[in-house]
Amino acid sequence: MELFDVYPLYPIEPVKGLGSKLWDTEGTEYLDLYGGHAVISIGHSHPHHVQKISEQLSKLGFYSNAVLNSLQSELADKLGQLSGYQDYKLFLCSTGAEANENALKLASFHTGRKKVVALENGFHGRTSGAVAITDNPKIVSPFNSDHEVELIPLNDMDALELAIDEDTAAFIVEGIQGIAGIYMPDNEFLVKAQELCEKHGVAFILDEVQSGAGRTGKFFAHQHASVRPDIITLAKGIGNGFPVAMVLISPEIEPWHGMLGTTFGGNHLACSAALAVLEVIQKEKLMINSKELGNYLKSELSAFNQVKVVRGDGLMIGAEFDFPIAELRKKLLFEHKCFTGSAANKNTLRLLPPLNVSKEELDQFLSALKEELV
Ligand code: PLP
Repeated sequence: MELFDVYPLYPIEPVKGLGSKLWDTEGTEYLDLYGGHAVISIGHSHPHHVQKISEQLSKLGFYSNAVLNSLQSELADKLGQLSGYQDYKLFLCSTGAEANENALKLASFHTGRKKVVALENGFHGRTSGAVAITDNPKIVSPFNSDHEVELIPLNDMDALELAIDEDTAAFIVEGIQGIAGIYMPDNEFLVKAQELCEKHGVAFILDEVQSGAGRTGKFFAHQHASVRPDIITLAKGIGNGFPVAMVLISPEIEPWHGMLGTTFGGNHLACSAALAVLEVIQKEKLMINSKELGNYLKSELSAFNQVKVVRGDGLMIGAEFDFPIAELRKKLLFEHKCFTGSAANKNTLRLLPPLNVSKEELDQFLSALKEELV
């Protein structure tokens, strides 16, 4: 059987990883400043992550959500502690798109409405509902959902005011728009969105799938704006490679049996993986590292003449060049052995290294960049 060919592939097969390093089948070492789209948060094969998952696997890998699983409450407690959302409830699932699907369902159940306000250039995943609220002509679904969707430009206060009304079920925004090219919502935009959502009884949803889990120096990117959304979705970095996703739900939204569900969400291995990630973020003070090294990387990148602007926060960085970066990215990968990311904005290099990347590793990348740009 052959694989269904939907991904363009680089001819490199990583077979081993440690921290911010990867090795391919030939034993060639690579620096990973992308972490498979922000998935690698505490570094490849972090010993605590490996140990916690292996220990759990040797005891019990899986049983269903129809029986008690105290790992889920342990995880909810730890997440509440680190994120500051102790009073919220946690729903566990497996992917970012699934978390957003559930967020939309919650908003519709809670408000009895269908209209969703989302952002131009936003991305929320590949399931039909997530595609319906995603603004990217290349990402298609023949079904979409039955949500009525209105897209507005990021940081346009007038459009926001016009769009959010008594018919709106939800307003959804990424903590930082990742795939678009690292565009940040202004604090005032988020504060205004929260006010309008409160005024019209609309669910305010923050998609922190890419920007959460400490990446920006706070647990969630929206916490820089001091807003408190009704629903927050989280995936990628919270599992460090193990598929884990989460929906954090305000106490105002009441659950009932059968409202949401999934087979794999919150299984024993997923909980162990996420717990290990939270423990390492806390113990190794990775949010501080993320902020400090992010500031360092941004200031070094800004010094290049060819860099027009550097966007982002912590270790979620987009450097926009005055030329399309596809060739530069290939050179960084094949000649300098460094993984970086692209974005919908063709001039933007996207950097999402593990949160425990070192200054020396960033300097290695900066020297490679310097060589290419002279
Ligand atoms: N939301 C955002 C902001 C994302 O960046 C992504 C993936 O890139 C998703 C949702 C979808 O997550 P997944 O691919 O795990 O379904």
